[in-house]
Amino acid sequence: MVAIKPLSFFRTPVVVTLLGFLFLVGPLLLSARSAQAAVIVLDPGHGGSDSGAGRGSEFAEKQYTLALAQKIAVLLEARHRVELTRTADVQMAPADRAAVANHLRADLMISLHAAVAPYCSDRTATVYYHNDERLRIPFGTSSQGMPTESDVDRPAWNQLQIQHQHHSQDLAATLKRSLGESDTFDSVTVSGVPLAPLMGADLPAVLVEVGCIHPAAATNRQTLEQQLDGYAASLAHAIETALPGLVP
Ligand SMILES: [Zn+2]
Repeated sequence: MVAIKPLSFFRTPVVVTLLGFLFLVGPLLLSARSAQAAVIVLDPGHGGSDSGAGRGSEFAEKQYTLALAQKIAVLLEARHRVELTRTADVQMAPADRAAVANHLRADLMISLHAAVAPYCSDRTATVYYHNDERLRIPFGTSSQGMPTESDVDRPAWNQLQIQHQHHSQDLAATLKRSLGESDTFDSVTVSGVPLAPLMGADLPAVLVEVGCIHPAAATNRQTLEQQLDGYAASLAHAIETALPGLVP
């Protein structure tokens, strides 16, 4: 047995290499561990008597968004906690959707919707973040600084998302970049508009509109499943790409 002096021990080539490796890889390991701890809320748009686009057709938007959310969840839940705002064909108020994410203290929320023909194609997506200039007026005051009846009546939850607008805008930009690089989409755009399901979300949140509902066309279930699989894979990858910028 050979006694090694502490100083010479730390100078051995193996230890120097190991310390160098940890110095370089340590931050990556830490960010990977953070990403594993993420809580992701997926919000399938519409539900119940609110069918969304393609009302009355065999596979309306409410079914489309739920199927898509479930496919994304399967891809992400090995590494993250993924919760859906609804898992069945039920109607939900916009405020209740944001409340699910707030209650879970989630790291991000993505509301899922689909566009409707003829204003879309199967290879386009739009990422929306909440932007409503009217709600920038401080709660309880008018634009002149005087309280008004309508301002007092306005519930405070309407303003929660505005505090996260920059993070949500960054999230939208990251998702756009990642989705645009995938083989699934030819065109991905970002837009800031008032969004009822997100205005009460106290966390980074976006609404993604993917795919194209064709109400008049017969639904080929196998083609649709393949299309949703492609969207889900691209969205799951885009969410993974965005997480390091969101999870502390
Ligand atoms: Zn919709």
